[in-house]
Amino acid sequence: MLKLGGRIIEIKSLEEKPSVLYKISTNPLLPTILASSRAFLVSSNNIPDGYAHYLFQDGFHQFYNALSRETSYTLLPPEYHYLSHDDVISVSNKNLRVLYRKASLQNSILVTEQCNHYCLMCSQPPKNTDDSWMLEEIKHLIPLIHQDTKEIGFTGGEPTLYKERFLDILKLTKNHLPNTAIHILSNGRSFKDIEFAKKYSEIDHPDMMVGIPIYSDDPTIHDYIVQSPGAFEDTLMGVLNLKRLNQKVEIRVVLHKQSLPRLVQLAEFIGRNLLFVDHVALMGLEMMGFTRANLDSLWIDPFEYKDVLSEATQILATYGINVSIYNHQLCLVNNDVMPYYRKSISDWKNEYADECDGCSKLSECGGFFSSGIKYGYSKNLKRFN
Ligand code: SF4
Repeated sequence: MLKLGGRIIEIKSLEEKPSVLYKISTNPLLPTILASSRAFLVSSNNIPDGYAHYLFQDGFHQFYNALSRETSYTLLPPEYHYLSHDDVISVSNKNLRVLYRKASLQNSILVTEQCNHYCLMCSQPPKNTDDSWMLEEIKHLIPLIHQDTKEIGFTGGEPTLYKERFLDILKLTKNHLPNTAIHILSNGRSFKDIEFAKKYSEIDHPDMMVGIPIYSDDPTIHDYIVQSPGAFEDTLMGVLNLKRLNQKVEIRVVLHKQSLPRLVQLAEFIGRNLLFVDHVALMGLEMMGFTRANLDSLWIDPFEYKDVLSEATQILATYGINVSIYNHQLCLVNNDVMPYYRKSISDWKNEYADECDGCSKLSECGGFFSSGIKYGYSKNLKRFN
């Protein structure tokens, strides 16, 4: 698992602001006007003048002595070996966070930790504190992101709780990154408000999608899973409003003990009532946040539900819906779902089990969340020869 942030003892920051964003450069010949706002990644004793900050990779820490006393720098621990040109970091007093990696296809930006749901399997448990500083940070981050970036995700908490301020972030992203697809993880309830949904649609982004969870065709089960009465109805209204306005919508279903008993009925429900959605993702469970606390009432070995997964997938496919299976291991699904199987776990938290050593399909297999390796996974793995 890649380390994307944490406390670092050896940071010297001259800035008085709580945190400063730097785009990283490895180019010693960068014009001073650009260098003066960037961080130079030191990997030799060739240290150019004029950068705002210096990052010393592990193995090159001794060269920081060459800096003048008024220079800010970070001595990076070995876990940050992956940092490279055009990545973006935030540096504050004794803390470093990696906000964007150019090499990654799965850059996801946390908009808020606040949420109006309290899902049993939430991987990012909500916090009820004012974190609007994140929006301000994102405004600084977006212009630093490389223009060739294929996709940016916005996640939470519930990003739309910030309403117009979140829409402003989307507009800013469209302006700076016109060729970058946007994916938003939302519970969809804000879009029940048709005026908000209209303002969202007026951004008129050519490639922007909202991923919205629906966990059951039975409202009481959905509301129980998200721990919020009335959620099912609001979410469904949100989906309908977005589609009425020709916006792209993905339905996300996390598979666990609470959602699986009616997965087949949910597939039928989507086929009959939401045939117009753009994508349905059937997703394996991530062992983070509340999932670990609620493990007994959530976890099922994917081997045990593979026939149900096949049936639900075939129903959706038969309706002509674009369906994908995310976060599953290749040896734990039936062959008939292979056309829908995707490697989906973000690169920074994707690992394989010891049992996978020597598996001939490892490169095609989605593997595990790092948390799954740590807290438990199926005993039914079967290496391919
Ligand atoms: S054994 Fe092979 S197919 Fe099964 S999880 Fe490991 S890599 Fe994937």
